Amino acid sequence: MRVLEHDALVPGAVYLCQVADSVSCGGCCGLYNVHELRRDSLRAMLLERTTQFVTVARTIAGIDAFAAERLAVEGTDYPDASLHHCPFVGLIIHPAGERVGCLLHPLATGNGGVDWRGLSYYGSAACSLFFCPTYSALTPRWKRLVRELIIDWYSYGLIIVEHRFLAAVLAEVESRLGQELGSQHLGHKARKALADLCMLRLEWPFQRPGTRLGRNFFSIQDSPRPLEALMQSEHLMHEKILLLRGGCQPDAAISATMGKIASSASPSRNDDAVPSPSSSNLIGGSVHDGNNQYFLTILAELDTDPALVPQAVEFLESALEQAVRLCRQIRMF
Ligand code: SF4
Ligand code: SF4
Repeated sequence: MRVLEHDALVPGAVYLCQVADSVSCGGCCGLYNVHELRRDSLRAMLLERTTQFVTVARTIAGIDAFAAERLAVEGTDYPDASLHHCPFVGLIIHPAGERVGCLLHPLATGNGGVDWRGLSYYGSAACSLFFCPTYSALTPRWKRLVRELIIDWYSYGLIIVEHRFLAAVLAEVESRLGQELGSQHLGHKARKALADLCMLRLEWPFQRPGTRLGRNFFSIQDSPRPLEALMQSEHLMHEKILLLRGGCQPDAAISATMGKIASSASPSRNDDAVPSPSSSNLIGGSVHDGNNQYFLTILAELDTDPALVPQAVEFLESALEQAVRLCRQIRMF
C-alpha cells in the first residue's frame, strides 16, 4: 500500500487529511455542516470562496473582511450548532484534479509560505495539531486501504471519519475472507466492491428518515447509533437472522442486548433452533463459523430503520458476499 511522507508525522502513522490529488477531507473544519448536503452545491460554494480569495489582500484586515463577507453571503444557520463551519475551507485546484483544502494554509496559492490560520476560529495550533478519532481508533492497514479505495474528496471526507462503521465492515469482510485485506492483493473489481461497501455509509437505502451524515469528527462529540432501537425491532425478532450470527464483539452492549432479545423470544416460533445467547454458537461461532460477528454493528452504524431490517439484512449480505467473492478471485491470480 502507498506510504505518504506525512505518515511518519501523525498519530497512528497513517496520514488521512490530504492524501491524493483529488482526495482530502475537511470534516473537522465543519465542511459538511451545511443544510442540503450535496456534492454539487458544496463544490460550488468552495469554488466561489476559492475564486474570491485569489483577490484578497494577505493582511489581517483583508482576510477578516473576506470571512465577514462569506458569512454574510452564505449565512450562519448551520444544522449542527456545536460544530463550527469554517469559511476558509476552499478548493485546491491543479491539473491533476481538485480537492478540498485550507485557504489559509502556508502552502495554499498566494500565501507565500505564511500561515494565516491564526485568523481562523480555531487558530493555527488547533488547525495543524488536531487529529480526528479515526487516526487512533482505526487499524492502520484499514486506514491505508480506505484512503486508496475512495477516490473523491466529497465521499472520502464523509467516510473516513466513520471509524466504527469502517472497522465493522472491514472486519466482517476479513472474517469471511479468512485473511487480512491488503490493497496489493486486490484487483480493480475487488477494490470497487470494497469501495461500494464503504459508500453504503453515504447511500444506505434503509436509513432511518432524518439521520444526518458525518458525525464522528471529534472524540468529545457524542454520536450514538440507534443500536437499542435496532435490536428491539420486531422485524429483527421475526427474522432470527441476527440471532444466528456471531457475538457482535467487540461491543459488549450488543451482546447484552442480544441476550435479552434471545431470552424474550417466543417459544412458539420454533425457538429450539435458535442457539442460546451464551452458547458458543452465538458468541464464538455461528452459521458462518464465527464470521459475521460485526454484521449487526454495521446495520447500527448505517442508522438502519428498524422497520426495514429484513430488506437491509438481505441487501447487506449480498453486498458483503459480492465483495468477498471478488477479493478471493483476485487473490488467485
Ligand atoms: S476529520 Fe480527520 S481526516 Fe478529516 S481533516 Fe479532520 S483530522 Fe483530517
Ligand atoms: S483555518 Fe483551520 S478550520 Fe479553517 S479551513 Fe483552515 S484548517 Fe480548517
